[in-house]
Amino acid sequence: MIACLDLEGVLVPEIWINVAEKTGIDALRRTTRDEPDYDVLMRYRLEILDKHGLKIGDIQDVIATMGPLDGASEFLNWLRERHQVVILSDTFYEFAAPLMKQLGYPCLFCHSLVVDDDGRVSDYQLRIADGKRKAVMSFNLLNFSTIAAGDSYNDTTMLGQADAGILFCPPQNVIDDFPHFPVARNYDDLRREFEAAAERIGAR
Ligand SMILES: [Mg+2]
Repeated sequence: MIACLDLEGVLVPEIWINVAEKTGIDALRRTTRDEPDYDVLMRYRLEILDKHGLKIGDIQDVIATMGPLDGASEFLNWLRERHQVVILSDTFYEFAAPLMKQLGYPCLFCHSLVVDDDGRVSDYQLRIADGKRKAVMSFNLLNFSTIAAGDSYNDTTMLGQADAGILFCPPQNVIDDFPHFPVARNYDDLRREFEAAAERIGAR
């Protein structure tokens, strides 16, 4: 069995919200929770960065002050003792590195930024569209069972593709739109949901 976890909102705080708070740029508070179309959201973010002259280094400075959510490392260690874990995220390797260090370098599949010589973030490169779902689909093709957990709209195709999907601390609009997924409100809930799902699908 492979456990597939979203990163932001499940193991670490929302990176862009932290950047918005530290820089005072409220427009950067918009996340996948508000805008389901990731390309629309990223184009908007890059425009805002340009407008305010924010460079990759400014964002990395903010990320360097962040840490995992309370209890996240313990949960991840618990899960890794039981299953192989892959983090499927729509963040970027350029952002995630310091957080991965704090989580003990778990396996991470995510995207890349295109950064100019002067540090301006000029573009982003999706590994592949709908990558979370396709990763789960590929694990299933390799004859792995899958359980996936995420908090937001960009996780719902992954949750639907997995043998079992779990929502972790989702906003109400995601619960309303996807009422068939079980909801975990804290890491103890999430441990229980993983155990129940593994039992249900007969995963080892
Ligand atoms: Mg998330």
